[in-house]
Amino acid sequence: MRELTTLAKYPFLHDTRHYIKENGPSVDELLHDLPYERARIIGIERLDNAFKNRDVGERSLANESDCIMEILSYPLARMVAVCIGDSYFKKRYALGEAYHVYKQLLNEPTSFLLAVAQEFNVSVQHNPEKNTIKIFFKDYLRNAPTRYREWKMVNRGIGGGFLTISHKDLARILLESLRERINEELLTRECDKSVYDTFSSDIQRFQTMLAMQKKKIEAAPVGKVSIEKLPPCMKNILSAIQSGENVPHMGRFSLVAFLSSLRLSTNEVLKLFSSAPDYQEDKTRYQVEHITGASSSTEYKCPGCEKMRTYGICPVDKMDDVCKKVRHPLSFYSNKWKQEKQKP
Ligand code: SF4
Repeated sequence: MRELTTLAKYPFLHDTRHYIKENGPSVDELLHDLPYERARIIGIERLDNAFKNRDVGERSLANESDCIMEILSYPLARMVAVCIGDSYFKKRYALGEAYHVYKQLLNEPTSFLLAVAQEFNVSVQHNPEKNTIKIFFKDYLRNAPTRYREWKMVNRGIGGGFLTISHKDLARILLESLRERINEELLTRECDKSVYDTFSSDIQRFQTMLAMQKKKIEAAPVGKVSIEKLPPCMKNILSAIQSGENVPHMGRFSLVAFLSSLRLSTNEVLKLFSSAPDYQEDKTRYQVEHITGASSSTEYKCPGCEKMRTYGICPVDKMDDVCKKVRHPLSFYSNKWKQEKQKP
């Protein structure tokens, strides 16, 4: 069994779960008893920090009590996140946990990262003499943030099915893996009524914050573009990006090329993307400028409806009457404007 401080820093580990099972209180005690009040407060603090700062935050782990409260706050935060009942919030919270772990992993020895990778079924080989780390290509593809240029397989050497990565790369891969794991777990759980009753005022506070944020995004004017008039395909891609879903490259590409054709500036496009939980301005700016031609010699065009369907990014079930008349998403947009002008 690992040390208590390690369990507190990495509450998702098998050892931590085992510790809670052997030594922890029952869910009822955790929710209502006075000795666990601090754990409940920290649980809410984790959620607040993840929502506002994209990081669940750091607390003192100076003594045994600090560590135990930190350990117990993790399942509490997860239970409350489920009851808030919003997939965007769950993703943001998952990222907050994973990003905090990433920062800590950077300071751990490689052997510790290898042990975490093993728990996540990520196949990694380490040669301590040469100080090289290699990852099996399938695990790399499953976990690496390949939406960014430097992570694309073609930009990494591969030999015998393995890619060489750095300690920092491995920490980042574990971030993505943990984020995905927490996300999936939260999306499949149901809210427990006793958790809802105990935290009802905090849950309602988070729900109000989320509703306000959504209104702000929808109401924010973006250049001269009307979000309401976007075709279903572009609305779909935009909302997936804003809620942190893994949008295929073609989807991002089509949306940026589409918005660029509507004369949206790079900064205006970035503003639309900035509410994504994992938004990174420098990397997104690079991608946008490449597609719009600001940093390359080519200005790419948004594909037509037929190609969009081939790529699987035309949501056939959401197509409306205008979709049936047009052959290009840009025609959809101008059609919507014409319809509005014809209104009495
Ligand atoms: S038919 Fe064309 S405009 Fe409509 S959703 Fe599909 S790709 Fe977009």
